[in-house]
Amino acid sequence: MARINLLSQRLANQIAAGEVVERPASVIKELLENSLDAGASRLDIDIEQGGIKLLRVRDNGGGIHHDDLPLALSRHATSKIADLDDLENIGSLGFRGEALASISSVSRLSLLSRASDDDGSAGWKVETEGQGMEAKIEPVAHPQGTTVEVRDLFFNTPARKKFLKTEKTEFSRIDEVVKRLALSRFDVQFNLQHNQRAIHQLLAAHSETEIKRRVSLVCGSTFVENSIYVDREASGLRLSGWVSLPTFSRSQADLQYFYVNGRIIRDKLVTHAVKQAYRDVLFHGRHPAYVLYLELPASGVDVNVHPTKHEVRFRDSRLVHDFLFSALHKALADVTPDQRLAAQAEAAQGNAASTEPYSGQWPQLGGQTTGIPASSPAFQTNSQGGGQSSLQLREPDFSSYPQPVGQPYSRADHQQQMATLQSLNEDDTEVPPLGYAIAQLHGIYILAQNKDGLIIVDMHAAHERITYERMKMACENEELKMQPLLVPLSLAVSQGEADCAEAEAETLRTLGLELERVAAESVVVRQVPSILKDSNIEQLVRDVLSDVQEYGRSDRLSAHQNELLSTMACHGSVRANRHLTVPEMNALLRDMEATERSGQCNHGRPTWVYQSLDALDKLFLRGQ
Ligand code: ADP
Ligand code: MG
Repeated sequence: MARINLLSQRLANQIAAGEVVERPASVIKELLENSLDAGASRLDIDIEQGGIKLLRVRDNGGGIHHDDLPLALSRHATSKIADLDDLENIGSLGFRGEALASISSVSRLSLLSRASDDDGSAGWKVETEGQGMEAKIEPVAHPQGTTVEVRDLFFNTPARKKFLKTEKTEFSRIDEVVKRLALSRFDVQFNLQHNQRAIHQLLAAHSETEIKRRVSLVCGSTFVENSIYVDREASGLRLSGWVSLPTFSRSQADLQYFYVNGRIIRDKLVTHAVKQAYRDVLFHGRHPAYVLYLELPASGVDVNVHPTKHEVRFRDSRLVHDFLFSALHKALADVTPDQRLAAQAEAAQGNAASTEPYSGQWPQLGGQTTGIPASSPAFQTNSQGGGQSSLQLREPDFSSYPQPVGQPYSRADHQQQMATLQSLNEDDTEVPPLGYAIAQLHGIYILAQNKDGLIIVDMHAAHERITYERMKMACENEELKMQPLLVPLSLAVSQGEADCAEAEAETLRTLGLELERVAAESVVVRQVPSILKDSNIEQLVRDVLSDVQEYGRSDRLSAHQNELLSTMACHGSVRANRHLTVPEMNALLRDMEATERSGQCNHGRPTWVYQSLDALDKLFLRGQ
C-alpha cells in the first residue's frame, strides 16, 4: 500500500478539469459565461483548429481588479457567491469558482484584464506556472474588459487529448455553445471566428424584429416561419419563446433550446412535458423544435446539481411540469388558419416586417385573443374566451355525403360558387382565412381561394381532426350522444377481444360505444356515437377492440381515451372519392377555422397548404 500524500495544486485542478473541461466547447462555454457574468455587451471569440490550438474570448465587461488576478486562476475562488444564502439564490451563470483553475491546469492559459475601477494602469496579464500553479503577473496594454487565451488544450494530458474528434466536429460543438448562449442574451453582440474566418456576427438585438432575426440566424428562417410565439404566466412561472407548428417537425431532437432563468438546460421533466403537449398533433416518431424560456424565482430551482450546470432541480417539479404542459397544449390548440397565413405572409415579406410586438398576432396570456378579427364572419360562433372553445357538438352537416361519385355540379351549386367568388373580388367583404371552395380535385383535395391565394385542403385529414375534436369535447362535457342501431350488429371476434369488450364495457360506453358480449367469441354492437352513425361500424368496432387490447393490458384504458376517440374519428370521416358539393366544401372550411388544432390531422399530417398569388406568380416568372 502506498502512503497518503497531498496532491499538488495542478493535479487537484486537473482532476476537477475532468468534470468541467471535456473538450474545447466546454472551455468556450465557461469563458463566455464568465464574460456574461462580468456584464459584457460584446464578445469576440477566436478559434483556431477547432479550438485545439487556440480559444480566445475577449469581452468588454467589468474586468478583474489587479489584486484579484491571482485568485481568478485558483480553485474555489469566486466573486459571485460568498455564503450559503447566495448559493440558494444564484443570479449568475458561474458560481463554483473552478473553471479558470481547471482550464489553466490542462492548457497554456493567459488572462489579460483591466478593471473599470483600476485607474491609471493599462491592464495586467497573469499566467500560472509549475505544479503549485503560482501566478505570475506583469503589466500589459489592454482596454477595459478581459481577454482569456487558451492554447494547446490537453497538451499535458495526452489521454484526454486522444478523445478529441476532428477539428470540424470540435468546432461544430463550439458553434453550438455559442448559438445556445446567443439565444439566451439577445442584448449582447457575439462575433465568432474560426481560422480567421467570420462565422457569426450577431449584433445586439433589441426590437422584436431584431430578436426574431437573431432567432432565424441561429435556428434557420424556416423555424421562425413555422413557429408560434408563446407567452404565458401563472403561479409565479412564466414561459415565453417559440415553438414549432406540429407540421414543422424534425427527425431528430436537435432544435430544442430550453432556458431556465437564462441558463440552458437539458431536463427530462421538461422534455416530457413538451412531448405530452405535442402528443395529439405530432406525426409519429417526429420531434418538435423550440426555443423556450422559463422564468421562476431563483429559490424555486436548484442549479447546483451538476458541475457543468446543464441540469437543474425544480423544487416543485409537478407544478413546473403541469404549467409547461398546459401552456404549450393551449398554444398549439389555438393555432388558427388565420395565424398561420399571417405568419407565412410576414415571412414572405422578409425582415422588412414591422416592429410591432407579437401580442397582437399570437395567442395571448390566458388564451383570450386568437388574433382573429372579431368581425370575421367565420368566427362569429367561435369566441374562444376563457380557454374553452365554444365549438358545439352538433350533428355535422357533412357527415354523410349523399351525392354519388362524379356527379356534375348542379346549376344551383354553380350559381352559389359564382356568388362567393364574386365576393372575393370586392374589397370590403370579409373573406374567411381559408376562403371559398372552388372545386374538388381527384376526390381527395378541396381547392379554395382566399384573398391572397390558393388553399389546398386534404378533406379526409381535415374532417378527421374536426370529428376527433368534437368527440373529445363532447366526451369531456359528457355530451356524447349515442344512437341505437336499428338492427344490432353481431360480430365474431377473438376470445381475447370479447374479454376486453366485457371488461371495459363501462369505459367504452363513455366513449359512446355500447357492446355486449353474447358468446365466448361474439359481441353485439347496440349503440354507436351518433356523430359516427354513418361510418363502417364493423371496421370501427374491430379497430377499437384491437386498441383496447393493446392499451388495456398496460394501463388504465381511460388514460388512452383520446387514442380511442382518434381511432373512431378516423372511421367517421369523409373518405376519398366522395363527391362534395360546394356548400359542403365551404362548410368543411368553416369548420376547420373553428376547430382547435385543425392544421394537423390526428396523426400530425398537415390538413391544408397555402400558395400565395405572389408565390404562384414567381412560379410562372410573372412580372420579372
Ligand atoms: P466562477 O465563474 O464560478 O466564479 P471561474 O473560475 O470561472 O469561476 O472564474 C473565477 C473568477 O474570475 C470569477 O468569479 C470572476 O470574478 C473572475 N472572472 C473570470 N472571467 C472573468 C471575465 N471575463 N471578466 C471579469 N471577471 C472574470
Ligand atoms: Mg465561471
